[in-house]
Amino acid sequence: MKTPVNRRKFCQNVVATAPLAVFAAQSLAQAGAQPVKTLSPGTGGAKWLPVDDPTAKALGYVIDATKVERVKKGDTDGKDQFCRNCQLYAKGDDIDGKEAGKCLMLPAGSVHGSGWCKSWVKKAGNAGRAPQGCSPDSGGEF
Ligand code: SF4
Repeated sequence: MKTPVNRRKFCQNVVATAPLAVFAAQSLAQAGAQPVKTLSPGTGGAKWLPVDDPTAKALGYVIDATKVERVKKGDTDGKDQFCRNCQLYAKGDDIDGKEAGKCLMLPAGSVHGSGWCKSWVKKAGNAGRAPQGCSPDSGGEF
């Protein structure tokens, strides 16, 4: 039987455990990011992701995030979302003078730091702001 007291206790428990849940989620996200850091697109002759990559197309990946509308996710405005500040991105060596990295979702090649796709996830510890120098790379369309 539901009573106001039970609802109050439930709410108290939610409030008490919420910080713990956030900490656990961030810890898991950071732990999940560790293997990505070992991938370097500059090692062994990195190449850009093929333009006809079917997964990239399905995810709506673009090399210049500013060219597409991005909706707010959590507390991060769309305009602040780039591959370079995505949880699934690991910075690698630049390619053709442009920032490049590996994406867990798109293993067929390197993505642009200035890119974006629908699977963007806020990087743990990221305040939601685009890092300094976050202007898009110049280049062709994907
Ligand atoms: S998942 Fe993240 S790093 Fe990968 S393409 Fe999408 S926005 Fe970029």
